Amino acid sequence: MKKIIEKNINIITSSLIIVIFIILSLFSYQRQTKAQDEFVENSLSFFTFGEIDENKVENFKKSYKYDLLVKDEKEKVIYNTGIDKNIIKNYEFEDIDIVKKSKKNYLGYERKIFAKKSHDKIFAIEFYNTSFLLYLFKIIYMLIFAIIFALIINKFFTNSLYEKLINQFKEKINDKKDFEYLKDNPKKYLDKLINEKRKIEDENLKLKTRIANIEKITSNMEEGFIYFDKDGNIVIINDAAKNLLNINRENKLDNLIDNDDFKLALRQTRLLKKGKNLDLDLDEISLKIFLDPVIDEEIVSYIVIVIDNSKNKKAEAMRREFSSNVSHELKSPLTSINGYAELIATGLAKDDDIKKFGQIINEEGNRLLNIIDDILKLSKLDEENLQEGKTIVNIKNVVDESINRFKRISEMKNIKVENKVCDINIKTHESLFTDLVTNIYENAIKYNKTNGQITIKCEKNKKNIKLIIEDRGIGIKKEDLPRIFERFYVADKQRTRTLKSTGLGLSIVKHICDYLNYDIKVESKYGYGSKFIISIPAL
Ligand code: ADP
Repeated sequence: MKKIIEKNINIITSSLIIVIFIILSLFSYQRQTKAQDEFVENSLSFFTFGEIDENKVENFKKSYKYDLLVKDEKEKVIYNTGIDKNIIKNYEFEDIDIVKKSKKNYLGYERKIFAKKSHDKIFAIEFYNTSFLLYLFKIIYMLIFAIIFALIINKFFTNSLYEKLINQFKEKINDKKDFEYLKDNPKKYLDKLINEKRKIEDENLKLKTRIANIEKITSNMEEGFIYFDKDGNIVIINDAAKNLLNINRENKLDNLIDNDDFKLALRQTRLLKKGKNLDLDLDEISLKIFLDPVIDEEIVSYIVIVIDNSKNKKAEAMRREFSSNVSHELKSPLTSINGYAELIATGLAKDDDIKKFGQIINEEGNRLLNIIDDILKLSKLDEENLQEGKTIVNIKNVVDESINRFKRISEMKNIKVENKVCDINIKTHESLFTDLVTNIYENAIKYNKTNGQITIKCEKNKKNIKLIIEDRGIGIKKEDLPRIFERFYVADKQRTRTLKSTGLGLSIVKHICDYLNYDIKVESKYGYGSKFIISIPAL
């Protein structure tokens, strides 16, 4: 590089010097030739003035080495130092005149003879003008000196110019070796840079493809997945993470979740370079966060996995509530059984009361059995491992079965039961479907009035079959309606107590519907009756 700069500057300056030298030489040559001609003209005038002295002529010849010829009018030679006397014959001009000029000789000399007539004499001087090329040749040493001088100055100038140019990069190139390499051979350094750039572009492309693949793989994950680079910018994020945290790609690690526990965990992870897990209960959602640093040499990037823990939390809370309810529900009939049994055992109960107490113990025992039966049904459904296969079931038959089962009670209450269900077959789990219908029908009787009414019917369309169980019973209050499917929820505690309620029947119904993929709806007006609608998807 330095050499190329130097070479070019040398060529430019040398060419300039040569051109200037030639132009100046041309001027100087012309001036010199003119001066020589003038000198000869003056010398001719000098000789024609006064007497011709032999000494004068000799001195002239000696000093200037020009030849002189003097002839009289009759062409007789008076003086001649070496000119051909026949060249100037019958010369007439009074003024100085160039009598003869040799052909232009570009390499050597140009011969000239100047003549003048005065006092009946003819004077002639012969001399030689140097040709321009010869003149140039004579002064060429000056050109050589000038060029050498320019080359020396150029060398110095190029050095400092190159240093100035290269030093601009010194700050930008941190590596000393790299800088020396650039200084020694910029072209190779540039090639190296271009090669490296190409490699980086290739790597970048590969990385982008890899990131796209990872995003594709993680897009179907239920868990949120985010990968942050060392500056805390998001490199990879899947849809689950965007939805769970309500963020987009522009979010940074520091402002991922506006929560003090998360910020503290992040600080600890950064400081200790160790992963951290935390449970966060945010406004509407419970999250499990796994925060892990990825240490690659000195660079630390982060992986964040987000899991929606709301369902688990809710299930856990429900389990806790359920177990405390179960113990409570089991305890009250047992306490009552225990109390009456103790009265009988200690002989404190009067004979008249023993029968009454025995009845109560029997009722409470039955209640206990009912509760245990329902709990067993629920836990069976919770396990979700009912391997029982589906069979073709006739809805009308199942409804008839339930009606028969509770016939005695419905007749006792004088309830009018209408089975308007048409002869429809569905593919379902027979025992679960029977439990489902029985539970709703049992409630329709249990919560009905004397002389009440129950209608069971079907509605069929392209999408589903609707099984409707409607009663003209006591109905459900508006505020109880959303809670009747909860475990152990009994709407009217005072009244239901006497009706042997466990609060588990509709919870079982809801579970069965979820399991069979049925939809269940309740419409009810307090004091007028209730309507349970089960939507069974058409086959
Ligand atoms: P249980 O009947 O053992 O109390 P369920 O889970 O079957 O438990 O019912 C929950 C509550 O919903 C009942 O306590 C009752 O108050 C109300 N309920 C259910 N079915 C009816 C109905 N057909 N009419 C009025 N209330 C009902």
